[in-house]
Amino acid sequence: YYRKHILPPKILIMIVLILGKTRLKRSEINNKVSLWRGDITSLEIDAIVNAANSRLVGGGGVDGAIHRAAGSLLGQECQTLNGCKVGQVKVTAGYKLPAKYVFHTVGPQDCNEDHLIDCYKNCLEELVKNQLRSIAFCCISTGIYGYPNKDAVHVALDTTRKFLERDGNMEKVERIIFCLFLDLDVQLYEKGMQKYFYVS
Ligand code: ADP
Repeated sequence: YYRKHILPPKILIMIVLILGKTRLKRSEINNKVSLWRGDITSLEIDAIVNAANSRLVGGGGVDGAIHRAAGSLLGQECQTLNGCKVGQVKVTAGYKLPAKYVFHTVGPQDCNEDHLIDCYKNCLEELVKNQLRSIAFCCISTGIYGYPNKDAVHVALDTTRKFLERDGNMEKVERIIFCLFLDLDVQLYEKGMQKYFYVS
């Protein structure tokens, strides 16, 4: 009677192997992705992501903070770049910032999910394309541009996870930080990390 209900040993071994492999992968991801709360302009890292406007002229919010901290040369370089389209990214030096580079991306103002996905995806692709290894994201579009914080978290974490899972990107990237500024985002990202990266 029992025999009928016991899985053959070969299948059991396969299940154990598959679960083991998934575990390893999860813990690898967990070592690369983290949350940090504070001012993105204070981070010493390869690249910080700026939630810029399409003319790259420097505005309010995180954009203003980055331009102030980097100094006027950042604005001068931005002027040579011919703007930036929604979902795209343009790279500048970090100037007086401790970060080496600033990745200026333009988030959607109309809650377009695909465009927000593009922001995260293109920044991460630009990182590995330039052989850089660490990046800090601000919460793109969730301030003045009005994307709901709750939905933006899923875009950020889901896009990052998918990126790390393909093309050997896991080995190419050392650290991805989500730089949070508001209580609400801290709460949402802590929950989201458990869902997408299995952090307890
Ligand atoms: P957007 O125009 O794309 O909505 P905002 O700058 O208005 O961009 O807001 C994006 C996010 O950046 C918001 O969560 C805001 O609280 C946060 N933020 C503002 N200043 C800073 C800063 N100095 N460092 C990190 N995040 C910041």
